[in-house]
Amino acid sequence: MMPGKNPHEEPALFTSLDSIADLLRNNPIVRGIKENPVVEDVTRWGRASAMWPMTFGLACCAIEMIAAGCSRYDTDRFGIVFRASPRQSDVMVVAGTMTKKIAPAVKRLYDQMSEPRWVIAMGGCASAGGPYNTYSVVQGTDLVIPVDVYVPGCPPRPDALMFGFLQLMEKIKKEKPFVLDQRKISL
Ligand code: SF4
Repeated sequence: MMPGKNPHEEPALFTSLDSIADLLRNNPIVRGIKENPVVEDVTRWGRASAMWPMTFGLACCAIEMIAAGCSRYDTDRFGIVFRASPRQSDVMVVAGTMTKKIAPAVKRLYDQMSEPRWVIAMGGCASAGGPYNTYSVVQGTDLVIPVDVYVPGCPPRPDALMFGFLQLMEKIKKEKPFVLDQRKISL
């Protein structure tokens, strides 16, 4: 950049995700919209009201997760709609025992989810290894991916998982909604 020149007068180079993120971060119009408290509130409300978990289970806790999505508990009424692809999901419920063999696949699925994304560790196994303090079991999901909410139990009931979702909603409502401000994206 030439010294003393307005950076917004330079041509935009859309050659990488970093350059697009930098352009958005520095654009005064975008910054003005993002700092508007009404925009922030509407963004938080939208995210908290439409959490889409990935259809994905590891062990017995997954049965309770499935029950939470069925008609008796019906997570859909909270806007919690299970999706069949990590690319369409923003919540991962780690429901069951995570062995060291499956952990790389869990990490890969998490990496395939777009930002912003959240993780619920469901049950004792996902939270801290549960009854399996063995060489083959990961002793907590947070050793592989970051966790937002822990749901205790072995297994937790479907209503306990729904309470976990409600806790995640409260967390999302308090988050700074614009993820580009929170982390530097790079490929
Ligand atoms: S916490 Fe209990 S119910 Fe859930 S996966 Fe572990 S052993 Fe199974």
